[in-house]
Amino acid sequence: MLRTVEITAELTTPSRDKVFHNLHWQKKLDLSVDCFICERTGRTTHLRQGEERMVCSGDARAEHPGAGRVAAFDVTSERERTSLRVVVDYWWAPFRDVERDAPGAALTHAPWVRLYLGYRCPEARETGAFSVQSNMVRPVSETCAQCAHPLATSTRSPSIRLLS
Ligand SMILES: [Zn+2]
Ligand SMILES: [Zn+2]
Repeated sequence: MLRTVEITAELTTPSRDKVFHNLHWQKKLDLSVDCFICERTGRTTHLRQGEERMVCSGDARAEHPGAGRVAAFDVTSERERTSLRVVVDYWWAPFRDVERDAPGAALTHAPWVRLYLGYRCPEARETGAFSVQSNMVRPVSETCAQCAHPLATSTRSPSIRLLS
């Protein structure tokens, strides 16, 4: 059956950015799912907006395509914060993970997400990137790798919930 998960995240950003770094959410993410294809729970999948399938990291070295996609990718940026709402659709069917002896769930037991951001340093004229994810010690602040200018602070873990 088709399942829909909503992911929301928010970062605080410097109020008056004197050194504009063009901070932006990259249109990709990693999300843990219970994958009925390889019949393993808590698998990391890679998703990109615009692609009609996702990639499941599978078991050890065996990646495989999965029936999932980014259905919505909405960014809202205000003066001191930027937030992201992603909706992911994926196909799920009941199974049992024999190695962990646990049933697969429509929303995996401890859902986890990694979101990516990019920026461009105007002084060094170079691009950079970082990610925010679940299970980090917060607050965590990111600075430009080139000039050490503050870029963003994450105070709360991204939320992940099953919509249907
Ligand atoms: Zn899989
Ligand atoms: Zn910089």
